[in-house]
Amino acid sequence: MPATLIDGKAFAARVRAKVADHVTRLREEHGLVPGLAVVLVGEDPASQVYVRSKGKQTAEAGMASFEHKLDVKTSESDLLALIAKLNADPEVHGILVQLPLPAHLDSDLVINSIDPAKDVDGFHISNVGLLGTGQKSMVPCTPLGCLMMLRDHHGSLSGMNAVVVGRSNIVGKPMAQLLLGESCTVTIAHSRTRNLAEVCRGADILVAAVGRPEMISGDWVKPGATVIDVGINRVEGAEGKTRLVGDVDFASCAEVAGAITPVPGGVGPMTIACLLANTVTACCRANGLTEPEGLTA
Ligand code: NAP
Repeated sequence: MPATLIDGKAFAARVRAKVADHVTRLREEHGLVPGLAVVLVGEDPASQVYVRSKGKQTAEAGMASFEHKLDVKTSESDLLALIAKLNADPEVHGILVQLPLPAHLDSDLVINSIDPAKDVDGFHISNVGLLGTGQKSMVPCTPLGCLMMLRDHHGSLSGMNAVVVGRSNIVGKPMAQLLLGESCTVTIAHSRTRNLAEVCRGADILVAAVGRPEMISGDWVKPGATVIDVGINRVEGAEGKTRLVGDVDFASCAEVAGAITPVPGGVGPMTIACLLANTVTACCRANGLTEPEGLTA
């Protein structure tokens, strides 16, 4: 495999260690404990796993973790009342409402009821606008993790051609904004893009956030390009077992790319690490303190 492996698992461990150091400093020098509240409505199994993992890693970083598990039938007004309470709670610096919400709840309304300064997922319309206009914002965790790995690998990204495949609000669009902020020339591709393979072959940086197992093959990749695979897809493996694969066909792309993230062990671990980083950033901003360097965009 000629490509360099970008090890997201090891990188995420370094980010978490940096977060933990900063948490210690906040406690010792300012008597502050960054707090993250996670709200889960219903019992979606994948969401339960994510929430457990977030709570565990929050506590391991020395931060306060507040978990709110609500019944699947929780009314919108009860959920909004809880968010209002968390918005007003000085011990809570970050609020995350686990998506997807049950169908009777309006996700946009709920997300936009979070105080933007505590919106550690970066999905509030104010944060989307701030990011889009190049202002200081809370940055969505998954694209932030991708950006950190890209900066670490390349240093400057200025002038590079970046293609982001996928235009979702949680990954594709903020990823494109971040790359534009780094002075890349950015193309956003999606399901209606013509000649997608050709578009991808023009990329120095190719980010795949599609949700289609191993869709991007080696002949779509420019030799030497950096490939960031956001996809997490569960497919059938050998002997009736399932396995995780990305949106990129790792074996063929690793033969052509200059650097590539694996699945699992690439972008995935960075997402929770960036959630912790955003919570520390939110805590510093709320208290008028200098933000830790290298933990945000
Ligand atoms: P999403 O909301 O379903 O968006 C998928 C995007 O891919 C859409 O913009 C869609 O285009 C585009 N697309 C679908 N089929 C395509 C095709 N054949 N050719 C080109 N574009 C196509 O998904 P998402 O939430 O952004 O997530 C994308 C992937 O990342 C999923 O595998 C998800 O599990 C994973 N993910 C991972 C993490 C992590 O922590 N690593 C976090 C979030 C998501 P249209 O807009 O035209 O429909």
